Amino acid sequence: MTTLERILKAQKAPPAPDAPPTLGRPRTARGEAVDMVAAASGVTPNAVRRSLAKLAEEEAGDPAESIEQAADLPPPVETWGVPVEHLAQEFAEIRIVQAAMDEAARATKAALAAVKALKDGGKLSSWAFLKVAPALSNAAEDTRYWRPTYLCAYCKGLVHRRAACTGCAGVGYLGNTAVEGIAMELQRRGEDALVTGPKGTFMTLEQARTPAKAPAKEIELTDQDIAASDEDIPF
Ligand SMILES: [Zn+2]
Repeated sequence: MTTLERILKAQKAPPAPDAPPTLGRPRTARGEAVDMVAAASGVTPNAVRRSLAKLAEEEAGDPAESIEQAADLPPPVETWGVPVEHLAQEFAEIRIVQAAMDEAARATKAALAAVKALKDGGKLSSWAFLKVAPALSNAAEDTRYWRPTYLCAYCKGLVHRRAACTGCAGVGYLGNTAVEGIAMELQRRGEDALVTGPKGTFMTLEQARTPAKAPAKEIELTDQDIAASDEDIPF
């Protein structure tokens, strides 16, 4: 909560019963709060506005600091207990996607509830319901289903594996209910975690990160794997 929000919240008291009626343009909550703080502190409203602007600037802070703070947040998806430090930037994006999807889910649910009121009306009402309800119902379901929820169980989001991953189509993440059909091997966690290898095999994360050193019978190197291993990136 920003300082301004705290102030607005603190100042939400109802007006005194003997307060004179407000004339002219209605005051905004912020304007009223500024006036009240100014009166209580014995300064002009403009002085309060200048202080608030300065505080807002300070609280916006250094972008680098914000990224560090974001790194302290728990991962926004199920990570299967594998290392995810390198994904901090993507996690920031996922949180934004999740918030938008949640808002869309709420909005479509409300829209569906609104048209459901037409369902048992007359002929015209029922017609309108039937025309609109299925699309809204699908939209509500899609926003729930596609909300990023899991680090891809098939490639664990590994940079070298995800591009060719058919489980997540290269995105690195799975939606809300996608995990239901996933093999138990791919649901193993931490050091036991596995990813999909060639021809239906499973590989450890270690094997997946260093494809050149993995047993030949399990690995079929592609040009992409070789190029990737030369870059000497740990993930
Ligand atoms: Zn994947």
